[in-house]
Amino acid sequence: MLLAGIAAIVCCSPAVPLGSERGVEWGKTPSGSASNGQRPATPTSGGSMSSIMARVNLRQDLVPKGSHGRRVVRPMSPRYITIHSTQNYTADAWKHSLALKRGALRAPKRKGGNRIGYLIWHYTVDDKVAVQHMPTNEQGEHADYDGPGNRYSIGIEMCEHRGSDRTATIDRTARLAAYLMVKHNIPLRSVVPHYHWPRRGAKPPNKNCPHFLLENGRPGRKWRAFLARVDSYYQQMR
Ligand SMILES: [Zn+2]
Repeated sequence: MLLAGIAAIVCCSPAVPLGSERGVEWGKTPSGSASNGQRPATPTSGGSMSSIMARVNLRQDLVPKGSHGRRVVRPMSPRYITIHSTQNYTADAWKHSLALKRGALRAPKRKGGNRIGYLIWHYTVDDKVAVQHMPTNEQGEHADYDGPGNRYSIGIEMCEHRGSDRTATIDRTARLAAYLMVKHNIPLRSVVPHYHWPRRGAKPPNKNCPHFLLENGRPGRKWRAFLARVDSYYQQMR
């Protein structure tokens, strides 16, 4: 109940169990092709794409199909990319991955919503790695209950644990978002903060997330600078 209560308050601040166990070292890239572990196969395979993605250090550590957040697989054609921050000051990307695999992050119980019962999103990014938790053609539970943010968007959580390098986390997130734009033909205007998706019945409906890229709880200069960075990588990848 406590976990459910915590998750109900902030979907971006899941309670993550502490522990030294790391997530399973991954095997393959999102496209399923062989690689050295740092170069996802890409739609364009350009040199710029490879060099930009090499710095992402993208790993897969999927929640097993049929369990927890993937208990029911709901197909999705992604049209948006939603950017969050975890508001969890103790957990890096691997710890979030472990929590998702353990089913530790319960979704708030809402009438008619959250039939999965667990929070889940597609990627968690920190200052060293980006970890993928579920395929991008499956719906997550990270934005707005039964709203379009969940039904049509790829969810990316940025870590903000103490001691981490936020600039590196933001840069890695921008690279990953640009890659996903290319891969899924998503325009820059559809890269949005969690704030973009009102949560029916929540107060406030538009969450201050990712808080460190918003100003007074709303997109402003910092968000525009982030989008410019995403666009810069996107233009190099095309
Ligand atoms: Zn969020």
